[in-house]
Amino acid sequence: MAAFGTVFTPEMILSRFSNDSWTEPQFVATDSISLHPGAHVLHYSSTCFEGLKAFKHADGSVYIFRMDKNVARLAQSSALLALPKFDPAMLSRMIVDIVGRYASEVPTPPGSMYIRPTHIGTEASIGKAAAPSLESMLYVLLSPVGDYFAGGAKPLRLLLEDNARCAPHMGMVKSGGNYASALQPIMKARAAVQADQVLFCPNGDVQETGAANFLLIDGNELITKALDASFLHGITRDSILTLARDRGMKVSERELTVDELLERAAKPGAEAALSGTAAVLTPVGTLIHNGKEYQVGNGQGGATTNALRQALNDIQWGKAADTHGWLTKVC
Ligand SMILES: *Cc1c(COP(=O)(O)O)cnc(C)c1O
Repeated sequence: MAAFGTVFTPEMILSRFSNDSWTEPQFVATDSISLHPGAHVLHYSSTCFEGLKAFKHADGSVYIFRMDKNVARLAQSSALLALPKFDPAMLSRMIVDIVGRYASEVPTPPGSMYIRPTHIGTEASIGKAAAPSLESMLYVLLSPVGDYFAGGAKPLRLLLEDNARCAPHMGMVKSGGNYASALQPIMKARAAVQADQVLFCPNGDVQETGAANFLLIDGNELITKALDASFLHGITRDSILTLARDRGMKVSERELTVDELLERAAKPGAEAALSGTAAVLTPVGTLIHNGKEYQVGNGQGGATTNALRQALNDIQWGKAADTHGWLTKVC
């Protein structure tokens, strides 16, 4: 099986913005775009993206999960990066059109079609370090993906890091520069303590990892950081919190300190998990802080994490009723 995100459909769909208007979206070859070497995105990181998925149901129909939320988040990221504004209805149509065109290539569960809308500033101007790009390109890539957990959901090791992942006002923007700024701490954590990911906890405030949100489960309570501008507002996070409330769990969106996390995670039966579109909900088995290792619960992940992941997958895969209206039918 090819590595996640390395296989693409032969075409994507693309629209360009210049002279105050968007071109009619077109299907174009996926393997190349042409960009001026002075393009704004290449110098000043005017780039943002989304990640969402389409699923094939047992009757062969294809559905996209929470498309409206992802489109709205890309619009918000674009606004915060001062990229040209786009009509959310146009991007929704682009997504449905490209997924419909490649519906036959949407893998069956546990696989899916990963959808990557991308918006970049293309104006050729290296003088615009402190000014927005007035031209841009919006495109939607498709990547068929297999079972993220092929080989089993191995509980993750997380290194707790005192620094922030990115500038505090940029956390809610799904933008390339944020991943670049988190790369060194993640590489160091892998080399030093064989961590899978870094859990960023600036000033002792438990935030998120490089590309997923963090949830602590203690008995009937689910605890996660309340939304603010400093971290990414995950749509999987929102979905899992909704499903937890549906199951009668107490959902606490509030500050969680490193001290409280380490104390509660050690309790028997405690669980911790990372949420994100790619891996849905992944158990965390070990937290590493100041040179010490702390096992979360029994260190093997837990029943509530598995039940919440299954509940979400069941809706995505058409095995449970879509009571929250999260699915958009493509065909
Ligand atoms: C994409 C992302 C998430 C998860 O968001 P989902 O909408 O659940 O996929 C969390 N944190 C970061 C930094 C991300 O980039």
